[in-house]
Amino acid sequence: MTATETITEQRLDIAVRNPADGRVVGSVPDESPAAVAAKIATLRANQPAWEALGPKKRGEWLRKFQNWMIDNSDHIADVLQSETSKPRVDSSIEVPLISDLVNYYVNNGTKFLADEHPMSFTALGAAKKLTKTYRPYPVVGVITPWNFPFAMPGMDVVPALMAGAAVILKPSEVTPLGGAEFVRGWKAIGAPPVLELATGRGETGAAVVENVDYVQFTGSTSTGKIIAMQCAKRLVPYSLELGGKDPALVLSDADIDRAAYGIAFGGLLNAGQVCVSVERVYVEAPVYDEFVAKLTSHVGELRQGADDRKGKFDIGALATAEQRDIVARHVDDAIAKGARATTGGKATGVGTFFEPTVLVDVDHSMSCITEETFGPTIPVIKVADEAEAIRLANDSTFGLSATVWTQDKERGERVARQIEAGAVNINDAASNVFAFALPMGGWKDSGVGARWGGAAGVQKYCRAQAITVPRVPTQKKELIWFPYS
Ligand code: NAD
Repeated sequence: MTATETITEQRLDIAVRNPADGRVVGSVPDESPAAVAAKIATLRANQPAWEALGPKKRGEWLRKFQNWMIDNSDHIADVLQSETSKPRVDSSIEVPLISDLVNYYVNNGTKFLADEHPMSFTALGAAKKLTKTYRPYPVVGVITPWNFPFAMPGMDVVPALMAGAAVILKPSEVTPLGGAEFVRGWKAIGAPPVLELATGRGETGAAVVENVDYVQFTGSTSTGKIIAMQCAKRLVPYSLELGGKDPALVLSDADIDRAAYGIAFGGLLNAGQVCVSVERVYVEAPVYDEFVAKLTSHVGELRQGADDRKGKFDIGALATAEQRDIVARHVDDAIAKGARATTGGKATGVGTFFEPTVLVDVDHSMSCITEETFGPTIPVIKVADEAEAIRLANDSTFGLSATVWTQDKERGERVARQIEAGAVNINDAASNVFAFALPMGGWKDSGVGARWGGAAGVQKYCRAQAITVPRVPTQKKELIWFPYS
């Protein structure tokens, strides 16, 4: 037991470690199912007053929270850096991302949640005023992964609160401090008590699923399937944002410099631990050699590190030793089957570092192509033409997002419409994540249910209710009522 691990309610607190050097940077309680159920009961009691405030007043609280976030952004970046070992730039981007999301939902939430009055053209419904109204689920459970410890919670907590739900946030046990900061901020501004934190491992997450009215889960496909089964038993709705294996298609008319820089960033940002990381690249034969040379040279220059005060770096450590071992297993499997690393290829240094790696001579028999790697590796495959690139891009159980690199934008859009993925970015990497006006979500094993962004991103936290009112309530009885004539 380390100095920071203490016994709380017979359960050991969870120590949070910096993955680059293993030092303990904090700890959180391992909350029992009973403690989680009690928190959710309190949230359930507090939620009606929050719903009654209406979207405009709820938006005002979100604005106050936004100001708190911005005022505390340096401290939050410190916390995120300590528990992830990300570069300063990466740990500083999470607050502005969520601040933009607050702007989007505060500016548009009232419109998205407003009553709708569709016209009825059926003979029986014609004389009624019809109303579709959005009523929030009382308590939403938001369960998040470790890769963006502040932004992942924010992506769902913000629209759920805007919708009028109360929220219990269960952050990853690997990086719980960012989520803890989020909830601390909500309480610090004196906001209504409709956001609570539940820290712990899978058992704590399962207790959240067991007690809430709607589950929003972001994490691995395997955990997502367990949660879907648990929700099915209770008939509770859910949405799942899961793993990915995103392809990049480099067509022969691409700007190869931009493609190489963009794919290096898209594949290696956050050491490749991004759901929409570029995890496979298909390059048309005429530009293959040039692309591989440029990508290899650029990736070979990237700097690894853990502390910006000791010098700038681009890529930090992997979140856990298990994650580093998955990356090593995929690279070893590829090399054993005939692939070659043009740069990188092995674990390095102390902590959980893995060298930024480009793999060539790769094919679809290798785990680096069939399984999510979630690490700093970019496997590249030469293809004969556009049709083969599309066929191989779609040869995956995943369908989160994709990128297409071409200077012909019409060609890019035409190719995009043939790819089986929830989002396709042309000549850019991960840009859909910032396009809040567009609903986004994974296809196939990458997700199910409603989406992030757009009207759907806030309406999914509501149950639609239909209300009908006779327009002319003068008759004693409707024609179809008893007794039949
Ligand atoms: P994970 O599935 O291991 O854990 C995610 C969360 O679920 C954690 O908080 C964990 O404690 C909790 N959990 C575990 N078992 C549970 C159970 N039985 N019931 C309820 N909760 C449980 O995922 P991870 O390793 O933290 O994150 C990496 C994964 O997340 C990758 O697969 C990545 O692609 C995915 N991800 C997806 C998106 C997306 O938008 N699609 C975004 C970020 C990350």
